Amino acid sequence: MYMTEIIAKKVAGQTLTQPEIQFFIQGYTQETIPDYQIASLLMAIKFMGMNAQETADLTYAMMHSGEVMDLSSIQGMKADKHSTGGVGDKTTLALAPLVAAAGLKIAKMSGRGLGHTGGTLDKLEAIPGMSIDRSQKQFIEQVNRIGLSIIGQTGELVPADKKLYALRDVTGTVQSIPLIASSIMSKKLASGADTILLDVKFGSGAFMKTLNEAKELAKAMVHIGKAMKKDTRAILTGMDQPLGFAIGNILEVKEAIETLQGRGPSDFTELCLHAGALMLMQSERVKTLIEGKRLLKNFLVNGQAFEKFKAFIAAQGGDLRYIDDPAKFAQSSIIVEVPSQEEGYVASLNALQLGEIAMKLGAGRATKEDSIDYTAGIILKKKIGDFVKVGDVLAVLHTNKKDYAAWVDQLRQSYTFSPTKVRSPKIIHATVNS
Ligand code: URA
Repeated sequence: MYMTEIIAKKVAGQTLTQPEIQFFIQGYTQETIPDYQIASLLMAIKFMGMNAQETADLTYAMMHSGEVMDLSSIQGMKADKHSTGGVGDKTTLALAPLVAAAGLKIAKMSGRGLGHTGGTLDKLEAIPGMSIDRSQKQFIEQVNRIGLSIIGQTGELVPADKKLYALRDVTGTVQSIPLIASSIMSKKLASGADTILLDVKFGSGAFMKTLNEAKELAKAMVHIGKAMKKDTRAILTGMDQPLGFAIGNILEVKEAIETLQGRGPSDFTELCLHAGALMLMQSERVKTLIEGKRLLKNFLVNGQAFEKFKAFIAAQGGDLRYIDDPAKFAQSSIIVEVPSQEEGYVASLNALQLGEIAMKLGAGRATKEDSIDYTAGIILKKKIGDFVKVGDVLAVLHTNKKDYAAWVDQLRQSYTFSPTKVRSPKIIHATVNS
């Protein structure tokens, strides 16, 4: 088989066969096919697309380019969820213990943040003592014992994606539905769970800008999961404004703790309850969304979800004194309120810009080598639909960087106002089951 022929076929808009797809994934992983030929093929795929069968074949080849986790020694239904990423997205921190409290087994591998979206691992490591490195034996033992473990993705999982993603990042080929769908689903399927719930975000702070794009990606991923005989569903959720009020690692951990104690922001709580109820339905723990939500709400109120979170943190070395008394967490040396210079209803919030400001304040990485200031970030005081008077605080910046003044102006510019009432946007827009 020749790589030049495979490229020519895709350039002509033809369908690649399973052996051809297997050939280039294996060749790229084993470094017998050079970057420039793969880059050329990726560009052809971006423009000519892939049909559902090609996308499933690509996912399968990527999934088997490395280790595939065997979770069969964990008793019970192993459930996984994945978010395509957004600003202030601390969902895993609250959702995982919440559904584990209801009996689901969460054996989850998470990633780090890059750019304007934060990663679950960074948020967990903001808790003093917390370790995300566990041997496979420890990981499985912990899930069997307390129902929940979250660790970093091992280097052996889907090596093809690691190489392909790095190449896509520098060749303008990230934005392609078959490439995104296969990248995400190969990692989810290699992680070994029985059920997969995908949270596909859309809006200014997300990869997908519109509901239609998000739906197309969700359908592609659900189709792949079903082709591999896994119960896979997706929710389409709004990311036109950050989730909750907190952006930044320690600030988000504190918000997740409040949510697990039943005192969280309404949009974030609604997302956790809705996603959690769907996960319970996927595992046949409940029959309806209403029943699932009711059950989970009870775990927020009666303390069981918070207790599960504490058991998880303690099992991975985290210091529970911070969880019991979040005021103990370190704070930034500079905490600045940003007052509004305008009056009106908040009409829009630029989530992408807020994520970038938080990153520049120290909360995220611009490159993989950057270190993170766990204390840095933003607490929003006003969100879409809120009425604001001149002088009301829009948000509070937390940073250790003395040259923060430019970010104050940028933060103000992230808001637009309307003289007439604006409805606060809904969080869950649709569910994709097939
Ligand atoms: N996240 C991934 O893991 N892969 C993509 O291609 C895009 C987002």
